[in-house]
Amino acid sequence: ATTQSKSYNITLLPGDGIGPEVISVAKNALQLVASLEEFEVAFEEMPMGGAALDAVGVPLPDETLKSAKQSDATLLGAIGGYKWDNNAKHLKPETGLLQLRKGLQVFANLRPATVLPQLVDASTLKKEVAEGVDLMVVRELTGGIYFGKPRGFSTDENGEEIGFNTEVYATYEIDRIARIAFETARKRRGKLCSVDKANVLEASMLWRKRVTALASEYPDVELSHMYVDNAAMQLVRNPKQFDTIVTNNIFGDILSDEASMITGSIGMLPSASLGASGPGLFEPIHGSAPDIAGQDKANPLATMLSAAMLLKYGLGEEKAARRIEAAVLDTLNRGFRTGDIHSAGHKLVGCKEMGEEVLKSIDSKT
Ligand code: ATP
Ligand code: MG
Repeated sequence: ATTQSKSYNITLLPGDGIGPEVISVAKNALQLVASLEEFEVAFEEMPMGGAALDAVGVPLPDETLKSAKQSDATLLGAIGGYKWDNNAKHLKPETGLLQLRKGLQVFANLRPATVLPQLVDASTLKKEVAEGVDLMVVRELTGGIYFGKPRGFSTDENGEEIGFNTEVYATYEIDRIARIAFETARKRRGKLCSVDKANVLEASMLWRKRVTALASEYPDVELSHMYVDNAAMQLVRNPKQFDTIVTNNIFGDILSDEASMITGSIGMLPSASLGASGPGLFEPIHGSAPDIAGQDKANPLATMLSAAMLLKYGLGEEKAARRIEAAVLDTLNRGFRTGDIHSAGHKLVGCKEMGEEVLKSIDSKT
């Protein structure tokens, strides 16, 4: 045994609704794989979202942001709920999430869409098309038309009311997201498809030029380009052709939601938000699911797989990540299903029991 084992600090943000239930289960999995791979994890649990609003009056308390910035990675459950839906903008749980992303300077959002063989029937696509899909959308998260200036309302020369936004990308913004995408593709199957609208938009022309220029630094990655309208079509026509997709903020917003529907299982999908060097933010793509909160019905696997992404992309602990991924598959193979992915012939379990079964799978593979 080593005397100076590695040690990581992880900030946990359970948040609202089913957040605390799924985080508690994922925490146990992180603890277990850490002990098996012989590194230490220390958790700091902090308030965030509606829970923080109720406790201290803001959705992202300073101490929570500080903890996330100082730790090695942050795992978030979910935030929001009916209770705060009519709040003013600065008092919305979701505003806390935007502030957290901004504070951590995470500009890359990674969303895998994997059709697991056990859940192929959940896909919205035909079995032949869905089978074997395993792709990752890398979306630029802090630039583009959602942030570009000028923006606003005005009147045109005829006095007609207009609303306008601006798609802006600087070279440095494209380069840094492209690098994360090339490195992600490298950790996967080595194929990167850059999606843009370079036949129409100047920001896309620069995007394509920069991605192409950087490709020479990643000779092991096979780069292709696709226009976004075609990509939207190809995603449902033949999604298996994709490995890693990199695209701007607005196209990524749309394509990552489209890709998630290929899998049809919102309770299974993780995500990662990464910056240049600082700690990343990892969270399931689903929301707080207030309709099933507190009933031990939530599927914890999206959060488990987010914890696996935290290990892989956040800490570089790939073996520990693979332990969780393999255990999730094993648990599904052993027939366990939460309500959202349940079908005849399987064992219906709650959030806690699903978590315990994944721990058993991790243990049995040591
Ligand atoms: P948000 O607005 O917070 O992004 P939403 O309201 O659009 O999210 P969710 O909160 O994700 O959506 O819930 C959508 C539906 O999916 C709900 O019926 C919810 O119960 C279900 N759901 C979401 N996550 C899970 C999960 N982990 N396990 C089981 N069901 C889930
Ligand atoms: Mg909602």
